[in-house]
Amino acid sequence: MDLVLVSGGPDSLVLAEDYAGAGAAFLHVAYSHPAAEHEAAAVAKWATRRGVDVFTATVPMIATQLGDGNGPCVVPARNLVLVALAGNFAAAIGASRVLLGACAADFEYPDCNEEFAKAASALLNPWGVEVCLPLVQVDKAAILRRANELGILAESWSCYRPSADRPCGDCSSCLWRAIQ
Ligand SMILES: [Zn+2]
Repeated sequence: MDLVLVSGGPDSLVLAEDYAGAGAAFLHVAYSHPAAEHEAAAVAKWATRRGVDVFTATVPMIATQLGDGNGPCVVPARNLVLVALAGNFAAAIGASRVLLGACAADFEYPDCNEEFAKAASALLNPWGVEVCLPLVQVDKAAILRRANELGILAESWSCYRPSADRPCGDCSSCLWRAIQ
């Protein structure tokens, strides 16, 4: 069995759609960041429509903003925390793979590539859990097209720094969606 990490963004929801039919389990990790509520709502909407259960784990993590405070929101070592937690869940429920929706556009992040997945898999190997990034070669435009075709783009959430209940319109995530 696979355990898919779902954030509520188009990448992880496309991944979740791909594996939902195969009986995968799902984990949403909630942590404090500007879009946390919107992401959780997107996951809940998807899960209800899909008719699947999603485990939710709330963890303390600290997000920092790059540049003068207007830059993208980054969470240092986020995926390391996610896969460690998911490794625990996976081993507990008998899942042998943890799937993370990192895609080609995430290449700048040190925890979104095959090298990271390999290292995390080596650490989780004693528990029989492997970390896989099925979308790591797929570019963002293709993922957004796919999300659109699957009818999940509208219910997904991408924006890093929403104001009130709206996407900001100019973070990198909003710009990706705009050119889709
Ligand atoms: Zn935005």
